[in-house]
Amino acid sequence: MLDNDIERVIYSRDQIQQRVKELGKQLTHDYAGNKNLVVVDVLTGASLFTIDLLEHMDVYCRMDFVDVSSYKGGTSSTGTVTLLHDLKNDIKGKDVLICEDIVDTGRTLKFLMDLLDGRGANSIKVCTMLDKPSGRLVDAKADYVGFNVPNEFLVGYGLDYDGYYRNLPYVGVLKPEVYEHHND
Ligand code: 5GP
Ligand code: MG
Ligand code: MG
Repeated sequence: MLDNDIERVIYSRDQIQQRVKELGKQLTHDYAGNKNLVVVDVLTGASLFTIDLLEHMDVYCRMDFVDVSSYKGGTSSTGTVTLLHDLKNDIKGKDVLICEDIVDTGRTLKFLMDLLDGRGANSIKVCTMLDKPSGRLVDAKADYVGFNVPNEFLVGYGLDYDGYYRNLPYVGVLKPEVYEHHND
């Protein structure tokens, strides 16, 4: 059903799961002995990735959620990021690992890093499933990257189009007609 709307699979379920496992192993190594870690799931897109990643992170960690929204100002590239849902817990003095679905312009990430830094986090690192380095407009860098991807609009494994397709187990590109019939 959903498969019919996909033109091309970029990363298969197996490729993603393999990479998530590797990232989890790396993070387990890097945060070994730390009992101060808070994993922050950036809603909604990063949720599938974060949950899978946590399964492979054999460390003491707590979990929290944040929701942000980015708006594009008309046709210009000026985007502002708004906080829609804040963390439940105080992160002062904590080691924070921000989990993202994808970093494009970097605005969302920069906003979050500045916010958490301002609250006195002890350290802030970023793990993103996908990175689009060619889309970067502000200085923001992920410490852990699942895959680098070209500047195309992707869906699946958390990534949406109009709220749909997040539940695809792989990452792919939509058929052009899906956009064309968007307002039907
Ligand atoms: P940034 O602030 O880095 O420009 O954008 C980050 C957000 O834009 C992501 O968290 C995601 O919600 C959205 N985004 C960027 N590229 C894509 C894409 O290829 N597909 C989808 N579905 N969302 C994207
Ligand atoms: Mg995101
Ligand atoms: Mg989105």
